[in-house]
Amino acid sequence: MKPRHALILGAGAAGLSCARLLLLRGWQVDLVAPAAAITGPVVVLNPAALELLRSMWGLDAARLRGAHPLARRLVAWEAGVPPASLDQPALALPLDALTQELDARLDGAGLRRLRQDEPAGERRLVDARGRLGMADARRAGSRVALSTRVRLATHAPEDRCTLESVSGGWLFLVPLGGGAGMLQAVVPGCPDGEAATRLQDLCGGSRLVAPLIDAADPRVRMQPAMPACSADAARPQRIAIGDAALALDPVSGDGLASGLRGAALAAAVLDDAAAGGDLQEGLQHYALRLAYAAHRHLAQCLDLYRSVPATAAWQHDIDAMAELAAQLQPGLRALRHGLRDGRLRRLAA
Ligand SMILES: Cc1cc2nc3c(=O)[nH]c(=O)nc-3n(C[C@H](O)[C@H](O)[C@H](O)COP(=O)(O)OP(=O)(O)OC[C@H]3O[C@@H](n4cnc5c(N)ncnc54)[C@H](O)[C@@H]3O)c2cc1C
Repeated sequence: MKPRHALILGAGAAGLSCARLLLLRGWQVDLVAPAAAITGPVVVLNPAALELLRSMWGLDAARLRGAHPLARRLVAWEAGVPPASLDQPALALPLDALTQELDARLDGAGLRRLRQDEPAGERRLVDARGRLGMADARRAGSRVALSTRVRLATHAPEDRCTLESVSGGWLFLVPLGGGAGMLQAVVPGCPDGEAATRLQDLCGGSRLVAPLIDAADPRVRMQPAMPACSADAARPQRIAIGDAALALDPVSGDGLASGLRGAALAAAVLDDAAAGGDLQEGLQHYALRLAYAAHRHLAQCLDLYRSVPATAAWQHDIDAMAELAAQLQPGLRALRHGLRDGRLRRLAA
C-alpha cells in the first residue's frame, strides 16, 4: 500500500478537513464529491466548532455568507421547571455556506477531485459520506428532525434561540437575521407526507416558540436525528469520519465539532502509520475515542429525554439509547494515545 495517498469519499466539513490536514502533511489526496450534493441544514456552530474552524482552517466563520451571530438561548425542557435564559454565544449558518468556503480553500492545494466513487486500490480509504452513507450503522432510536424556514414575529429577539420541549417532540427556533428564522422539530418518528401537519401540531402545543413565528414555509424537510455510530469505523482498509462514523442527535449542538475532531484524529492516525507508526494501534485508539464520544453523547441524551414532560413518547428511543450505551460500555478502556500539535503521541504509562 502506498502510505501517503488517500481517497476521501464525501466533501462535507469532515471530509474536506481531513483532506486539508493530509495535504498539509504532504499526502496526495483524491476527493470524491458527487455533482449533485444534497442541501445541508442550517446549523448553529458552538464555540468549540468555531475554534476548530479557526485552528484547522484559519477561518472566521462569522464572515461567511448568511452567518448570523447569536448571544443567548432560552430553554424550556423539564416539566415544572421555569424557562432558563442562558448566555450562549454561537453562530447560525447554512451548512452549505461553510462547506463551499472550505471546498474553495482547497483549490490549488494539489487535490485531485473525482466525480464518482472508484476502488481505493493502493490508497487509504477515508469514508466521510455522512449519516446517509453509514452502511453499518448502529442506530439508537428512530427519531427524525423536521425543519422549515419561518418569518419571525416582529417582537421575536434576533440574537436568541429558543428550545422548547412540547407534547410529542421538541422545537428549536433559530433566528437567521432580517426577520428570517429556521424552525426545527425533533419527533419520535413521522410518516412521509405528514411532516408539515406534525410541525403544525407541535406548534399548537407550544407556549414559547409558536408566538415568535409569523408564518412558516409549508415545505418541511425530514432528516434522521437519532444518534448512530458505525459498527466498524476503523479498519486498515477504511476509516470512517464525521457523521459516517458517529452521528449525534441535533440536541447536542456538537455534530460539526465532533466531525472536525474526528477528521483531525483520523488524519493523525494515518500520517503516524505512514511515518512508521503502528497502524493497528492508531486505529484502536481512534475506535476507542469514537466509543467514548458515542457513550458520552448517549448518556447526555438519556438524561435529556428522560426529563421531558411526556417521556412515554420517547420510550422506544430511550430504550434503544440505553441498549447501545450498554453495548459500548465493556469496550471502554484507558486511552494510551493522545493528540499533540495534530500528531498522534503515545502517552507515558
Ligand atoms: C437537522 C439537523 C440539524 C443539525 N444541527 C446542527 C447544529 O446546530 N450544530 C452542529 O454542530 N451540527 C448540527 N447537525 C449535524 C451536522 O450537520 C453534521 O454533524 C455535520 O454536517 C457532519 O459533517 P460530515 O462532513 O460528516 O457529513 P455531511 O455534512 O453529511 O457531508 C457528507 C458529504 O458526503 C457526500 N456523499 C454522500 N454520499 C456520497 C458518496 N456515495 N460518494 C461521495 N460523497 C458522498 C454528501 O453529498 C455530503 O456532501 C445537524 C444535523 C441535522 C440533520
